[in-house]
Amino acid sequence: MRLLIVEDSAPDAELTVRHLESEGIDCAWTRVATEEDFREALRTTPDLIICDCTLPGFDGMAAFSIAASQAPDVPFVFVSGTLGDERARQALQGGAAACVAKGDRRRLAQAVRSSLQPDPGRRRRATDRPKPLADADAGTGAAQHLLARRAVLDDTLPEHDTAAMVSLTSGAPQIAAALLAIEAGPTRERFEKLLTMANLELESSVGASEALGRLAAGLHALLFTDNLALIRCARQLPSGAATHIVFVSSAGDALESEALRAGANDWVPSDARGEHFWAHLTIARRIADLAASLQRALHDNCMLSTVDELTGAGRRHYFEEQFPREVERAGRLGRPLGIVMSDLDHFKRVNDRHGHQVGDQVLREFVARINGSLRVGRDWIARLGGEEFAIVLPDTAASKACAVAERLRERVRSELFVLPARPTSISASFGVCALDQVAGDCNELAYRMVRAADAALYESKRRGRNRITAGRIGEERPRASNE
Ligand code: GH3
Ligand code: MG
Ligand code: MG
Repeated sequence: MRLLIVEDSAPDAELTVRHLESEGIDCAWTRVATEEDFREALRTTPDLIICDCTLPGFDGMAAFSIAASQAPDVPFVFVSGTLGDERARQALQGGAAACVAKGDRRRLAQAVRSSLQPDPGRRRRATDRPKPLADADAGTGAAQHLLARRAVLDDTLPEHDTAAMVSLTSGAPQIAAALLAIEAGPTRERFEKLLTMANLELESSVGASEALGRLAAGLHALLFTDNLALIRCARQLPSGAATHIVFVSSAGDALESEALRAGANDWVPSDARGEHFWAHLTIARRIADLAASLQRALHDNCMLSTVDELTGAGRRHYFEEQFPREVERAGRLGRPLGIVMSDLDHFKRVNDRHGHQVGDQVLREFVARINGSLRVGRDWIARLGGEEFAIVLPDTAASKACAVAERLRERVRSELFVLPARPTSISASFGVCALDQVAGDCNELAYRMVRAADAALYESKRRGRNRITAGRIGEERPRASNE
């Protein structure tokens, strides 16, 4: 097996490999610790990726989103001492094959074995995402980056507990998934057949603890079980609160009332057949459909408040909410932070000469070019209005931020935009503000960074457009970078 390990500590990576070998899994392996090396290593299409969660200058969630777009078929296993339950849940919902704690060696070998098995369920979760908005194909990838970035901020800024919302919306909503956790073998087989015939998307799970793990990892609209303790535990989970639970009772156990008290919504005898069984199933289906449409509505709602419909960039609302959080994160972790304001040059002329629709196409192409030049899962772009955009560069010091802005300017200018009349050269102006050290009130600082970058952008316009200008907080007259 060819294994790709994303890990900053060489001894930890070796330990992982030794554990696998001691469990009989032989592998040729490569270790990477930076985004650049990771992207390069993905080209060789490994059989499996094992990824640490926190790496200096790179992180597991970013690696995960890169792998999801570049190598969606390669199983991805998180091995981490720091991956919390909530994040593990998000990762699994997003299509990760497994999340294993760093010390848990036996689980790792198991997880590696099972993730190398073909798992149509996992692929379905990773690739079968419903379309969030009509005609937003171009922006869907970018939207996933915006949501992933919000998840990173949720994780590093625990006081903003939007995790439940993100977990509902960042992964693919699971539509009407039913979990079957029946211990009695013959009853389980019978229900498996009946529920499959009823065309429910079914996950079958034998033991109560495995069932609980699956419930914790993602929302299930339905649970069929004969285990009272599992019902009680499921009701304690945030993801179990909305599940429609059907208690499957054996003849003569007289536990129906207890099951309802434990949190079941309904009960059905294990030997139920014909009309009797289908009557219970009709109720369950109705609830499952309701849960699925609620999930879809939440997903769409989150997309609408996050993503600009035309370009797929973040909306102004997203920017105003997330940028102060980026400032707070940078301050807390002692990381630098950059922001670049950009405005297309003479865009009114494009509209006047080619029409508004072509203008719209140019805006889309502009965002696609910028997104194509940014680091996936880290940098992000938001449309502040009209043809004005903010590009946020986490962990980016002042000198690097100017180099990025220059690269973006070049990317826009270097290639003609293919407009109906003729290919046309289009440019944009940029204003940069980056801090190597972030300290102070994050709202105030966010505001001042935006103002400084805005002033620098204005200066770029004033000096002839198609250029970048570096601005500094408190500096009234920023200096043009190419002066
Ligand atoms: P400058 O180089 O000074 O920025 O000049 P400009 O022409 O780009 O700037 P100005 O602010 O004069 O014009 C911006 C234009 O952007 C005017 C407006 O009609 C157009 N615009 C704003 N939003 C949209 C949009 O969603 N689609 C299209 N096609 N045009 C838009
Ligand atoms: Mg303009
Ligand atoms: Mg403008």
